[in-house]
Amino acid sequence: MTTPEDHTLLRRAIALAAAARTAGDPPFGSLLAGPDGTVLAEERNTTRTDQDITAHPELKLARWAARELDAATAAGTTMYTSCEPCGMCAAVIQQAGLRRVVFALSGRQLLDIRPGSGRPAVPQEGPALFDEVRAVVEGYYR
Ligand SMILES: [Zn+2]
Repeated sequence: MTTPEDHTLLRRAIALAAAARTAGDPPFGSLLAGPDGTVLAEERNTTRTDQDITAHPELKLARWAARELDAATAAGTTMYTSCEPCGMCAAVIQQAGLRRVVFALSGRQLLDIRPGSGRPAVPQEGPALFDEVRAVVEGYYR
């Protein structure tokens, strides 16, 4: 359940999305806030201006948190984002150990606004060559 305080920070994420659009990038923006609502970092989508398909604001913020914050601090943060994180970003947010994500537009709502924006899954094949890859991986994690 989102609160009025959440909505204030979500509106900032929406403003960052508008700034991305003005700059010629897809209209998505996000920020990372501490437990008291202090904004720690902000990002916007820069996939066009950086010519980087991974330059989603959520991904950039999760990488920033993993690099700049200790694990306990990261675990207290909330990401506010103009749109529900895509699969790539959701995985990195989980890897970064953030506490919570609050989004405005859902992925489903985005597809309704922009039909055809989804991409087909890439087929994956495996497992294969278990003994060969096992020799490289086994013993690394202790
Ligand atoms: Zn994403």
